[in-house]
Amino acid sequence: MLVELLRGLKTTFKMMLDKPVTIQYPEQKREVRPRYRGKHELKRYDNGLEKCIGCALCAAACPADAIFVEAGENTDEVRFSPGDRYASTYEINLLRCIYCGYCEDACPTGAIELEHEYDINFSSRLDAIADKDKMLVSLANDLSTPQETKPGTFTRSIPDMENPADY
Ligand code: SF4
Ligand code: SF4
Repeated sequence: MLVELLRGLKTTFKMMLDKPVTIQYPEQKREVRPRYRGKHELKRYDNGLEKCIGCALCAAACPADAIFVEAGENTDEVRFSPGDRYASTYEINLLRCIYCGYCEDACPTGAIELEHEYDINFSSRLDAIADKDKMLVSLANDLSTPQETKPGTFTRSIPDMENPADY
């Protein structure tokens, strides 16, 4: 009996000397794996134009039917993205989303990406709808949309790429 007690205490004392594994969330945040799929972001090109062209392939690929996209027409005077169309409405219902990443895989321009932010919370159903304002990234150089662009410059919705993995 005493032997078992001492064996148990040995484990207790050994654990007391170990580094604690508890993470003091939310003050402290855990590093996630590179392929972790967290909060969605809508990306921009370096010139500030939006990568999303409103094609809705992400919505078609989504198994949870969580994405709603409505497209608008670009003009050179009021341009949001390269090519003819942009997403005038882009919404993801985060109550439905299962963070599978299919939207990311389906996107031809790399516009939607699931990033590493996992602090996702909301207190109402309305808050659970992530819209463009919540997802569209801001660039450090403050370039935004819409922009007035030179006619004939942004005629392609999908940029020329040597390697599609580059963008
Ligand atoms: S991560 Fe999956 S479930 Fe969520 S919006 Fe994208 S495709 Fe739909
Ligand atoms: S995020 Fe990608 S797939 Fe979805 S509408 Fe925009 S360009 Fe198309």
